[in-house]
Amino acid sequence: MFGILKGLGITFRHVFRKPIVFQYPDEKRADLAPRFRGELKLREIMGEDAAGSRVQTDAMPPCMATCPSNMKIREYVGLVSMGRFDEAIEVIKEDNPLPLVCGRVCPHPCEGACRRGERDEPVAINPIKRFAADHDLKMHLAGKGFKPKPKQTKNQKVAVIGAGPAGLTCAYYLALRGYPVTILERLPVAGGMLAVGIPDYRLPKDILQAEVDQIVALGVELKLNTSVESIDKLFEEGFGAVFIGVGAHKPMKLEIEGEDLQGVIPGEEFLMDVALGKKTAMGKKVAVVGGGNTAVDCARVALREGAKEVYILYRRTRAEMPAHHIEIEDADEEGINLVYLAAPVKIIGKGSRVVGVECQKMELGEKDKSGRRRPVPIEGSEFVLDVDTVMSAISRTPQIDWLEGSGVEIHSRWGTITANGKTGETSRPGVFAGGDVSLGANIAIAAIGGGKRAAFSIDAYLSGGDIKEAHIPRPIEALVKPLLNVDESRQEGAKLGADERKKSYVEAELGLTQEQALLEGERCLSCETRTCIGCRICEENCPTNSITVRAGQDDKVRRIFTWDLAGDTCIYCGICVENCPTKTLYHSHKYELAEHVYSNFSKHKDYLLRDKSLIEQEGWSRPHKHVDTMPLLSADKPRKLTNEGWEMKVEADEEGQVES
Ligand SMILES: Cc1cc2nc3c(=O)[nH]c(=O)nc-3n(C[C@H](O)[C@H](O)[C@H](O)COP(=O)(O)OP(=O)(O)OC[C@H]3O[C@@H](n4cnc5c(N)ncnc54)[C@H](O)[C@@H]3O)c2cc1C
Ligand code: SF4
Ligand code: SF4
Repeated sequence: MFGILKGLGITFRHVFRKPIVFQYPDEKRADLAPRFRGELKLREIMGEDAAGSRVQTDAMPPCMATCPSNMKIREYVGLVSMGRFDEAIEVIKEDNPLPLVCGRVCPHPCEGACRRGERDEPVAINPIKRFAADHDLKMHLAGKGFKPKPKQTKNQKVAVIGAGPAGLTCAYYLALRGYPVTILERLPVAGGMLAVGIPDYRLPKDILQAEVDQIVALGVELKLNTSVESIDKLFEEGFGAVFIGVGAHKPMKLEIEGEDLQGVIPGEEFLMDVALGKKTAMGKKVAVVGGGNTAVDCARVALREGAKEVYILYRRTRAEMPAHHIEIEDADEEGINLVYLAAPVKIIGKGSRVVGVECQKMELGEKDKSGRRRPVPIEGSEFVLDVDTVMSAISRTPQIDWLEGSGVEIHSRWGTITANGKTGETSRPGVFAGGDVSLGANIAIAAIGGGKRAAFSIDAYLSGGDIKEAHIPRPIEALVKPLLNVDESRQEGAKLGADERKKSYVEAELGLTQEQALLEGERCLSCETRTCIGCRICEENCPTNSITVRAGQDDKVRRIFTWDLAGDTCIYCGICVENCPTKTLYHSHKYELAEHVYSNFSKHKDYLLRDKSLIEQEGWSRPHKHVDTMPLLSADKPRKLTNEGWEMKVEADEEGQVES
């Protein structure tokens, strides 16, 4: 109770506290062109009272906004940095019931958006998630792990078709909201492509099973070896709503001569057979066609299954390969031959068996709609690889012929279910869909996000709520993280060497140690918390060295002693505001007139800011070296100014340029 009151108190103070306003002296230097001044404000400074608490906000940090399941990354990373692992897993599971899985296989689009990456390297978000999830698993094994409980019991039954990440997630959040849920799964195992696609050395099956077990423990009924072929039948059986999460399991064909020969295997089928312990039709020399995760997994599994020579044929270059770059590096290290700018044109047979694949070299032409350069065949460049097995791993589409006539609309071009990306609604009321079946072949966290949002929509549908509002992740909690690590570089977990890796299916990535997880969590910049954390990024980026921040931390909390701006050298570029990760620093739009008159900038803002090597060359580097203030606006185009107190009013010039 005390904690809640304290939290509310902090939230109110946060909302109503008056910002600290920096004022500037009047224009003193006669030799400068007129400049315009607005206000620069610092909304809030982190102090000991708020440190470690959570406040409500509407602003999303870039990591959260980019995550397909909008995970509260800033919060769980912050909790891990403080050693509050049990709370971290609770926050994680609010948006993702499969963190053990995702912590191992997620290609982490969040890290691509992480603002820390603009300074040095992104926060290792996914390894931190894995650390928290692994810690919780250890707690579970000791009988103490996080066990959420459904809040109330509801009567309407929900059917979930498919036990992949989309279906498992949908079932988890529905069960937590009190619905009796039945998952119907065609295969003898749960997990979808996580179980029968991703190999064990990346995702051990006992790890996946641990999370499936936790979902089943909520009271979810899991019916394996049960293929659904009619939606109507499910409604007749009394289900009030249906979620379709059947993935995309139909491999796309290469559409070249020789595809019916013995030794041509769809990559997904090969991986599924290995995962289910079945005999495969693979020989000793294997060519895998494709550039995504499936292609790389097929090649690496082929090696572990005894192939002597393995090739990946990809029609673009390594830079365009959609597979995760670490997987590509690992494959390379393990001895897989990566053949770029090559496309198969014919599979060569002897009798009924494959004996080779004829390929054509490619070059990159104009960009296509996806923004990638189109591969263009080079005439007369054909060459032959002697192989006895060709695996196609170019893409997959859903196997949903059984939905014909069900009232669920199917996209005529992609063969996917047409579903609302935010709510999961399909064209048939009461039927929802998410994951690969509506997105096409995608990634696990996108399926998890789809399953979660659909669960919220199904709850709204069954309880008479507003489906459109059900998914909106606002307001969100912002953790005021007391510790910050501005100097430490990204922590990397240990990994088995290539020689050891390629011999077995033992998990290759070992994750972060506790010490590394704590350090890495401190690297997070608490983006969008509207509270200055004393990171000194404003100071670091100010092109005229006009800002001085004095900050430091003891082992409990970071303190900001002074935040100083030299008004006589400030050139009003607004770069400090642009780069403040917490967005505590802001200016009235009158402040940054410079942005409207780029031509009058003696250096373009992007030039000043982003290419640090150029900045160094030009002598704009640390340690503090004050440069002369530059005139930003040319004197021959004066603007009309009126000064009301210290806030300046600006009117449009002849060209109609005003601040936006
Ligand atoms: C080889 C490979 C490697 C991958 N690597 C990664 C990776 O590293 N990182 C990542 O994030 N993603 C990866 N992915 C993609 C990821 O696995 C998928 O995006 C994700 O599993 C999709 O989840 P889903 O729930 O939509 O479908 P699926 O996981 O495909 O699950 C669908 C389930 O529905 C069942 N089903 C189908 N039809 C029926 C029916 N009629 N009745 C009952 N059940 C049915 C299926 O058997 C299956 O179990 C990979 C995929 C593959 C194939
Ligand atoms: S620094 Fe932290 S809050 Fe900001 S984007 Fe990266 S992980 Fe998210
Ligand atoms: S950039 Fe960092 S130090 Fe500067 S105001 Fe923003 S949070 Fe504070």
